[in-house]
Amino acid sequence: MPAVGASREVVPALLVTGGDVVTMDPAQPLLPGTSVAVSGSTIAALGPAAQLRESFPGATELDASGTVVIPGLVDAHQHTTVDPLVRSLIPDDIPSPEAIYAWAVPLHQHVDGDDDELSATVTAVDCLTRGVTTVLDPGTVAHPLRVAAGLRNAGIRARVGGWGWDTPGLPFAAAAGEVLAAQRESVAAVNAGGGPVTGWVTLVGHDLAGDELFRGAVKLAEELNTQVTWHLSPGPDDPAAFLRRHGVRPVEHLDRIGALGERLIIAHGVWLESGELEALLRTRTALAACPGAYLRLGQGVGRAGRYAEFVHRGGRLALGCDSHNAGDAPDVLGAARLLAGLERDRGTEPPLRASDVLALATRAGAEAIGAPDLGVIAPGHQADLVLLDTSRPAWIPRAPEPDALARQIVWGGVSDTVRDVVVAGRVVVRDRRPLLVDLAVLREEAAGRRAALLARAGLNPRRKVAP
Ligand SMILES: [Zn+2]
Repeated sequence: MPAVGASREVVPALLVTGGDVVTMDPAQPLLPGTSVAVSGSTIAALGPAAQLRESFPGATELDASGTVVIPGLVDAHQHTTVDPLVRSLIPDDIPSPEAIYAWAVPLHQHVDGDDDELSATVTAVDCLTRGVTTVLDPGTVAHPLRVAAGLRNAGIRARVGGWGWDTPGLPFAAAAGEVLAAQRESVAAVNAGGGPVTGWVTLVGHDLAGDELFRGAVKLAEELNTQVTWHLSPGPDDPAAFLRRHGVRPVEHLDRIGALGERLIIAHGVWLESGELEALLRTRTALAACPGAYLRLGQGVGRAGRYAEFVHRGGRLALGCDSHNAGDAPDVLGAARLLAGLERDRGTEPPLRASDVLALATRAGAEAIGAPDLGVIAPGHQADLVLLDTSRPAWIPRAPEPDALARQIVWGGVSDTVRDVVVAGRVVVRDRRPLLVDLAVLREEAAGRRAALLARAGLNPRRKVAP
C-alpha cells in the first residue's frame, strides 16, 4: 500500500507502527498492519512502516503491532469538578431534587480551587486510560482556570468554561450581562494557556436562564469563534417549567428567541417532542446523550429518548458520560453500548448499529462539538490515537471483518484494554500508565481532599447511604 500524504518536508515526532487502524474514514475504514506518522500535533501520513521510516527519518517509534488503533474518543458532556472527589457517593435510590439539594449543592458550595484542579486531573487520567482523549466540561462553578490547569496536567484535550445563570435567588446568580462578561473573560483566559485545552461558553441551562442570556451566549460563541453548551430536558421537569412560563416546550422556545444553531450542543434532550426534534434538525443544533446517567438517575430514557431517529434523520449527536455520580464512569465506549442497547430495546427501526455508535464516539461526536479535525485517523487530522491491546482475553479471538470488529469494540467491552494513548501527538498513556501524573500522589491527595470536603459540606456518607 502506498503511503498517503507522505512528505519529506514534514518532520514527524512520532511513528505509531504496525497496528490495525480503524480510521473512521468511510473511504477506507480499516487499514490492517498500517503505520501512522505524526508531525507535531497532526497526523502527517499513513502507510507501511518501512516507507514512513524512509519518508520521516529520525522519528521516535511506538510499536503498535498486536493492537487495534482507534481515534481518541470524544466525551461531549463530562463534569470534571466536585463529583470526581466523591465519586459514586450519592445514593442511587433517592429522588433527583434530593440528590441535587442535599448532596450536590453543599459540595459545590465548599470546593476550593485546589479541589477543582485535582478533580480535573483525576477525571482526565480516568478518561485517558479508557481511551477518551477529548472532554467537554459543561461548566465549572468557580475556578475554570484551575480546571483547565488540572486537565493540562494529565495531557488530555478539553473544552472548559465557567458556569453561569441569571435566576435571582440562586447562589452565584448574576445579571445576564455580568454572566456573559464573565464567560468572555473565562474563554480568553483558558485560551491564553495554550495547548489542547480551550475555552467554551457554558451555561447551566435548564430553566435557569432568561432569553437575554440564552441568546447572548450563542452570539458570544459566534463572536469568539467557539462553541456553547447547556443542559436541557434530561427529565420531564424542564418541559413542564417552560410550558408554565412560556406556553411552549423548551426547544420551541429557544427556536423562537433565536438561541439555536450550529455552535450549540445541548446536553441531554431526553424529553423532546416532534416539533423540538424538527427545530434541532433545521437549525443543525447538536445534542449530547449521556445514557449511563439517565439510567442511574431514572430519567425515563427508555420511554422518552429519540436518539436513533435523530441520528438517522441527519441530527448531530455526540456521547457524554456526565458525572462521577451520574453514570459514574467516563467510559465513552460504555455509553455507546448503552445507547445502542436502549434504542434496540425500544424497537427503533432502524436501530443504532455498533458502527453507528462508534461514529458517535469518534467522528460524528467530534463534528457535533465543532471539531471536525478530531475523531478520524487520516492525514491532516489531529493525532489523537488509542491503542487497544489485542493480547488481552476480551480480544480472543479478534474479529478481522470491519463490521464484526466494530461490534467487538462496542459490545465487547474493550475499553479496559486501552494500552497506549496519544493526544495531539504526545504519548500520555503508555502500557496502561498515565505518563504525566503520579497516580500514587494523586490517590493520596484525593483521599485527603475527599474527607476534608465532606467535613466542610457537613455530609456524612455513612449516615446518608441507604442500608
Ligand atoms: Zn451535566
